[in-house]
Amino acid sequence: MIKETLTKIAKVIPEDRLLVDEPMSRHTSFRIGGPAAALVIAENEEELGAVLRICTEDAAEHLIIGNGSNFLVSDEGYPGIMIKLGGDFDSIRQDPEDECKVIVGTARLLSSTSAFLTEQGLSGFEFASGIPGSIGGAVFMNAGAYGGEMKDVVRSVRVMRPDGSEIKEVAGDKMEFSYRHSVLEDNGWLALAAVLELTKDDPKAISARVAELQAKRNAKQPVNYPSAGSTFKRPKVGYAAALIDEAGLKGYRVGGAMVSEKHAGFVINAGGATAEDVLAVMRHIRSEVYKNSGTMLEPEVRLINCSL
Ligand SMILES: Cc1cc2nc3c(=O)[nH]c(=O)nc-3n(C[C@H](O)[C@H](O)[C@H](O)COP(=O)(O)OP(=O)(O)OC[C@H]3O[C@@H](n4cnc5c(N)ncnc54)[C@H](O)[C@@H]3O)c2cc1C
Repeated sequence: MIKETLTKIAKVIPEDRLLVDEPMSRHTSFRIGGPAAALVIAENEEELGAVLRICTEDAAEHLIIGNGSNFLVSDEGYPGIMIKLGGDFDSIRQDPEDECKVIVGTARLLSSTSAFLTEQGLSGFEFASGIPGSIGGAVFMNAGAYGGEMKDVVRSVRVMRPDGSEIKEVAGDKMEFSYRHSVLEDNGWLALAAVLELTKDDPKAISARVAELQAKRNAKQPVNYPSAGSTFKRPKVGYAAALIDEAGLKGYRVGGAMVSEKHAGFVINAGGATAEDVLAVMRHIRSEVYKNSGTMLEPEVRLINCSL
């Protein structure tokens, strides 16, 4: 069945952007994950719409991936089609009618978006400069850090219906942004581009703030190891990292996966970790933290074709 779907996709996506049996370890910040049946790179709205229509018609399992910095894919891989955006979706430009607004494609990385905004003297996005995701992944989960979140700067999002049949613009206040959540998680629409609104400031001052936040990140987080950032969501009371630390789990290890000694909120790939190793560490953390504090931690990392 998947073969027939791929034959149809091959008619709308060039061969070099239709990667069959593609190891997901190449596309995730954890550097973990078996092969997807295929990974397709769509470079414009026509291509993306066509791929979604084919997948819908064939009821073929599929999933959009951004920069893969919040993904844990199983060792068996993913039996469906991973869709990644590139080309036109990587664009960024200032709104010709409003110098404080920028229109950015969802494949663009937060780091390069931040670099562009700094150059233009546009402030308000500094919080996101060190998050290793794309605009699409960050909008999807309302990424945030250091007191800022996507909700603060996103004025509207251009989205495509999951079956590729419709495109519309959704105002920021209709995106239902909340802690690590947006409406896209509920309705499955795909983000194509976002309008960000910022404020004018001196590029040197913006650059200094970006450098300060980067230094904080480097000091606190295990940035030298592959990971997916915070493994668990912030619970209603307290912080996941503090609860994990209090349960004495820093350094806890299964195979190549380990609770970071530097930041207990991160499970890292300390070398050759499998998805099963990471899941075993996550299960142990959940049960020990629950025993110690009565709090059941919920994963922030997306578990693809695997579960706790
Ligand atoms: C070292 C490190 C530090 C991190 N620090 C932070 C932090 O400070 N704050 C924070 O919030 N996160 C942090 N993260 C987690 C992660 O980087 C963010 O959540 C980021 O927003 C995920 O973006 P992504 O492009 O990698 O998304 P992915 O991991 O590829 O995808 C995440 C989800 O978004 C969906 N998605 C992706 N693109 C689209 C699209 N175009 N339309 C619809 N849905 C889409 C995917 O299907 C998936 O469900 C960190 C991760 C690492 C590895």
